[in-house]
Amino acid sequence: MARKSGNDLLTYAQAAAFVAKRAERLARDKPATQRVALAAAAGRVLAETLRADTDQPPFARSTRDGFACRAAEASAHRPLAIAGASRAGDPPSGPLPHGAVWEIMTGAPVPRGADAVIMLEHVESAGSPTALTVRLLPPRTIDKGENIVTRGAQARKGAALLPAGTLIGAAQIALAASCGRATLNVYVKPRVAILSTGDELVPIAAKPKPGQIRNSSSAMLAAMVAAAGGTPWILPIARDSAKSLDAALARAATAELLLITGGVSAGKFDLVEPALARLGARFHFTGVRMQPGKPVVFGELPRSTALIQNQIGTKCWCWGLPGNPVSSAVTFLLFAAPVLAALAGRIDRGPRFALAHLTADVKTKPGLTRFLPAACTFAGPVPEVELVRWQGSGDLAAMALANCYLVVPADASSLDAGAMVNILLP
Ligand code: AMP
Ligand code: MG
Repeated sequence: MARKSGNDLLTYAQAAAFVAKRAERLARDKPATQRVALAAAAGRVLAETLRADTDQPPFARSTRDGFACRAAEASAHRPLAIAGASRAGDPPSGPLPHGAVWEIMTGAPVPRGADAVIMLEHVESAGSPTALTVRLLPPRTIDKGENIVTRGAQARKGAALLPAGTLIGAAQIALAASCGRATLNVYVKPRVAILSTGDELVPIAAKPKPGQIRNSSSAMLAAMVAAAGGTPWILPIARDSAKSLDAALARAATAELLLITGGVSAGKFDLVEPALARLGARFHFTGVRMQPGKPVVFGELPRSTALIQNQIGTKCWCWGLPGNPVSSAVTFLLFAAPVLAALAGRIDRGPRFALAHLTADVKTKPGLTRFLPAACTFAGPVPEVELVRWQGSGDLAAMALANCYLVVPADASSLDAGAMVNILLP
């Protein structure tokens, strides 16, 4: 078995490029689809082109409370008679007589003949209650089109509003609702097996004995899988023995994707890679020059087709994620989430990076690309980031206080306060 050192390790850039290319290729096969109620569509991936069922807006609409007018007449500052009134929900009325305005509320249809809406705050009124006039207050003038959204300005009937592959959130649900859609076609979620390995691990509900720790990574990865568009399937903890691993992996490999944590370093009880090999794995990489996450493994297993329902492909894409929780989280985000997103049918697959302003010096050693837990504030005009203090990649408390990872390039020996740096977003 190849060991995790020497020149056979990929650079981070090589591994990332490999994953991106593989995800792009996998995205060409579309997952099976299902219909869900709009209320249940948040977090799902759209499997159809959402089209406008009518012009949007369906009529020329006022965006203000005020007076529909002819801009040229209003800008002459003469008093104009109020010829009528429209509330939101009123059918289009009018036409607007010459030399007059039409009282109008936000969202109401603009009467024919009007080409602008004067804001209520910009007029003075005069006359008797039955013969009111209004006048646009000088020196203000108004242009044609002001405060009116014309019919079809947002979208024409039949126009594509959202492509298949869009992750559905609140805004997309509002748009679908405006098109009269009570249900949407979405992709079936891929199933992701999560298998934590290690003799020291006990279930969350257990009280650890001396030397034992709770299995925190399975729960963490289940949350990350759900956020990326998959259905997590947590398996019982596997022991550091060939027998336990073989049995657990055979079961887990019925899923479309498999995340294994632990057992991929160079230690005496790191038995995951040989177990994967026994099941017929093909390895794409077995180690990346990065920290944390150096021993990360990416490969594929043959999948038992008898068990495949509604799922694409005959492969189980599998990752051996280093056991420390921060390593598992970083390597999942960088190397597993993009493939999961592709199998979920998403067109945006990540990983997502951003620029931020570094607020304190960072000392490091060159050689590995680093992804260090960091806290970024988004309160100011430019995001500001600093490292959280941590005790290495087992430090769950540090990870929970961080909201991103600071990316330190492999050739850097330090990053200076004030520099613009890259952050990896969760
Ligand atoms: P390994 O990659 O198996 O050598 O594990 C590296 C470190 O991560 C060890 O300290 C393990 O105890 C810890 N670890 C492994 N798996 C988990 C897990 N599922 N939850 C929490 N810590 C873990
Ligand atoms: Mg272990």
